[in-house]
Amino acid sequence: MKYAIISDIHGNYEALESVLMEIDRHGVDSILCLGDVVGYGPNPNECVALIRERAEVTLAGNHDHAPLGRMDISYFNPWARSAIEWTRKELTQSSIDFLLELPLKIDRDDFTIVHSTPLEPADWNYIITIGDAVKNFPEFSTRVCFIGHSHVPMAISLNEGDDCRVLKENPIVISEDLRYIINVGSVGQPRDLNPLSSFAFYDTSDKKYELVRVEYDIAKTQRKIRQSKLPDFLAERLELGQ
Ligand code: ZN
Repeated sequence: MKYAIISDIHGNYEALESVLMEIDRHGVDSILCLGDVVGYGPNPNECVALIRERAEVTLAGNHDHAPLGRMDISYFNPWARSAIEWTRKELTQSSIDFLLELPLKIDRDDFTIVHSTPLEPADWNYIITIGDAVKNFPEFSTRVCFIGHSHVPMAISLNEGDDCRVLKENPIVISEDLRYIINVGSVGQPRDLNPLSSFAFYDTSDKKYELVRVEYDIAKTQRKIRQSKLPDFLAERLELGQ
């Protein structure tokens, strides 16, 4: 099976369209979305509609739960909070119905997908460090766990001697001797100082994982953010990739 794994779209329709074009050019059997379809960006309903049509599986992210009143939003920073309030007013009943049904964690083939962590998928903690990874490897039984949430692409392997290593190569050939936690980055709001949309392909037949970056019309999304009266910082950060 050839999969495209996408995450953290955040209502950025231009980025989503561009990523889907690249996915179609490549050709896959299935598109999996790891959540945060909405929040921050100016097109939450349009992104929900497109994801609903194109993704075989969509998981829930914290920004999908927040506008539904499913979590305390006081822990979000002021820009995120104001975008959540904006998104709450904007969401149609059809989008709300879709977001309400999203699962938190799923196993497919030789991998697990979850938005935040396999350990506590609804607590929205992050896996950033080796220490975070060490806590999470025992919490899934497959070979690879694909995650999103931090908006920073990352791959960590674990060997049979319990040693973890950050992997810098791309593509990665998934080894029978290792287990992996891999963050596919963000489609709609990358934060690794690279403004290009991030997502990944994973082919279970040749075990090849590849992180891909694509351009999209950032200026157009920025214009929409400003017209929508969302916080200006949400427009600025897109071109900075942070
Ligand atoms: Zn996110």
